[in-house]
Amino acid sequence: MAFNPANNIQDLQYFGEFGGVNPSISDSSTYTFLSAKTMFDTFEGNADGCYLYSRHTTPSNLYLGEALAAMEGTETANVSASGMGAITPVLLQLCKSGDHIVSSRTIYGGTYAFLKNFTPRFNIQTSFVDITKLDVVEAAITANTKVLYCEAVSNPLLEVADITGLARLAKKYNLKLVVDNTFSPLSISPAKLGADIVIHSLTKFINGSSDTVGGVVCGTQVFIDELRNVNNGASMLLGATMDSLRAASVLKNLRTLHIRMKQHSHNATYLANKFQEDGLKTVYPGLESHPSHELFKSMMNDEYGFGGMLTIDVGNIDKANELMELMQKRNLGYLAVSLGFYKTLFSAPGTSTSSEIPEDEQAEMGLTDGLIRFSIGLDNDIKRTYTIMRECMEELNILELEMV
Ligand SMILES: *Cc1c(COP(=O)(O)O)cnc(C)c1O
Repeated sequence: MAFNPANNIQDLQYFGEFGGVNPSISDSSTYTFLSAKTMFDTFEGNADGCYLYSRHTTPSNLYLGEALAAMEGTETANVSASGMGAITPVLLQLCKSGDHIVSSRTIYGGTYAFLKNFTPRFNIQTSFVDITKLDVVEAAITANTKVLYCEAVSNPLLEVADITGLARLAKKYNLKLVVDNTFSPLSISPAKLGADIVIHSLTKFINGSSDTVGGVVCGTQVFIDELRNVNNGASMLLGATMDSLRAASVLKNLRTLHIRMKQHSHNATYLANKFQEDGLKTVYPGLESHPSHELFKSMMNDEYGFGGMLTIDVGNIDKANELMELMQKRNLGYLAVSLGFYKTLFSAPGTSTSSEIPEDEQAEMGLTDGLIRFSIGLDNDIKRTYTIMRECMEELNILELEMV
């Protein structure tokens, strides 16, 4: 049977302490032991099922982690206080001084800044490459390379990584393939395509209510144990721990992820087609005009669609700002960064979420200043939304500009 991430989440059975339909929340930072010996064994990692201290793990965090591992088809997972709190320990766990990373050049601004400005302090160097070109990726690999890093669907340009091809390279050169799957939960299952480690910012689609930050690392039991090791585990020692109350709340939101993703994808597909028909430069993996449309199709779990993210280019930053302000005024969405909310969110990445990337590099990767990134919401009547969006664009003469 085909891999189905939403079924895997559904099939987990969790009960509360008193038979509650939701697991009980462990509202404690520390745990007692009946015997001192068991406490020692737990410290040493030799007492399965015992809890020690909540920076290490808690029942609530384990429940959420196991649900996310089921979703990605990995052995286990470790949740963290934010997406960056998942990404940075993974890279620091896999690399030591002198090591090298090959990363996609179109990645989340925070990840880019970490690899470009922060890890060189520890003599960990990164080559940023066009991840859609496997020959370019391979040519960047050196004797010191330890990690291939990419986003399944990239932020903000929506480039699609050939995960199967990258996994083949990773195997050939004995590297770890780390994939940030934040933009394409359920639609793409990187571990099933050969990725070693899958990361999410739970802040976005997975939690879906823009009320918290959170992250997760999905991988093998061995790797997750390493991250959590009390002596040398980067997650344990850097301390980006999720709170139990929040883990319980993210788990409840995860229950509706499949319904939300279908609606995000449905609405984004509708708008992308309309924008393209209107002559706007539109990027959406679900459009046949997208350079990686066929690749996405070959990797995807069909029923969840091509996701909720799309971009249009309205020519320059002033037009982009005018349009976003007008759309907000008409209550079509919010001028805000982040994604995965019930309401449409839009921002101009060149001056916001990707502003860590220097302007010349932005230009080289095709990140123009008229680019607007949309996270399409759960609108009940997307036709009505489109009609009003089109009125906004006509009012600002955006469609005429594009047509010439
Ligand atoms: C938001 C985001 C992150 C960072 O996650 P936080 O929860 O904000 O720390 C990482 N990767 C991608 C693709 C993101 O969109």
